[in-house]
Amino acid sequence: SKQINVALIGNPNTGKTSVFNALTGLNQKVGNYPGITVEKKEGICKLPRGVKAHIIDLPGTYSLNASSLDENVVIELLLNRNDKDFPDVAVVVSDVENLKRNLLLYTQIKDLEIPTILVINMADRMEYKGISLDIPYLEKKLKTKIALVSTRKKQGIEELKQLITNYKEVSDEPCLNASEVDVDYFNSLRKAFPNQLLYKLWLVITQDVNFGKIDRNEVETLDDFKTKSKADLKRLQQKETIKRYQFINNVLKVGQTIDTSQAKDLRTRLDRILTHKVWGYLIFFLILLVIFQA
Ligand code: GDP
Ligand code: MG
Repeated sequence: SKQINVALIGNPNTGKTSVFNALTGLNQKVGNYPGITVEKKEGICKLPRGVKAHIIDLPGTYSLNASSLDENVVIELLLNRNDKDFPDVAVVVSDVENLKRNLLLYTQIKDLEIPTILVINMADRMEYKGISLDIPYLEKKLKTKIALVSTRKKQGIEELKQLITNYKEVSDEPCLNASEVDVDYFNSLRKAFPNQLLYKLWLVITQDVNFGKIDRNEVETLDDFKTKSKADLKRLQQKETIKRYQFINNVLKVGQTIDTSQAKDLRTRLDRILTHKVWGYLIFFLILLVIFQA
């Protein structure tokens, strides 16, 4: 039977690699993407009923408006349905303390109409921060299934495996539509490419990715659409980002509550600083001791 292709995507430091490790255990392989020094981590996750998932831990990226080699790897994979690693399901890993920023990338992936699961990681931090989430509401508004995970506490991983197993039930509908950013521009794009995903075309136009992986004819015709100046395209990208944050703010206004009076964070932070300070002083005095001995 066919393996389920899973791509782990997310902002840096959201715990992607921790989720990858929790899913794949020791069944991992680390290599490089052909021709570049970006690390490629892949692994196998065993799911119920003998099903296997092939999991790729993609480089951290803040958005699909790529600006680095690492980020290009992510967008090239997501734009190329013929790639053998093209995901059946994308798993976006977010960190509960930075949901707003993390969801920007999530909404972009949804616009590519790839079935997408949302992992909200670091759930162990919620109590400290006084954060509570209305998961059913968030699932409805973000058109997804959510796994609330703490890799540190080893919670939510089985639920995530369940969601991956049943990935066919995960929506591939976009949750907002970037083409509303400039209706005229996108309407002309739609006319020229009636069967193509507008957001994908938009990314090909604005990104400096390796077009070798995308149909050549398509790209050459697309070049005609670069009629706008670079500054114009940049301005449209900014409008896109603003539109996405408006959507995200509206969703979080209801779906997320942060009650700082409930947060136990100050104490834990103080504890942490104190223990760090103690180590700092110890090392400092050890160095002094060594100097005076010498
Ligand atoms: P990546 O950059 O997205 O691959 O993130 P990593 O897996 O390297 O994790 C980034 C940091 O977050 C590390 O210091 C982890 O120990 C920490 N981290 C990962 N998962 C959790 C979690 O569930 N809870 C907490 N509190 N920290 C976590
Ligand atoms: Mg990592």
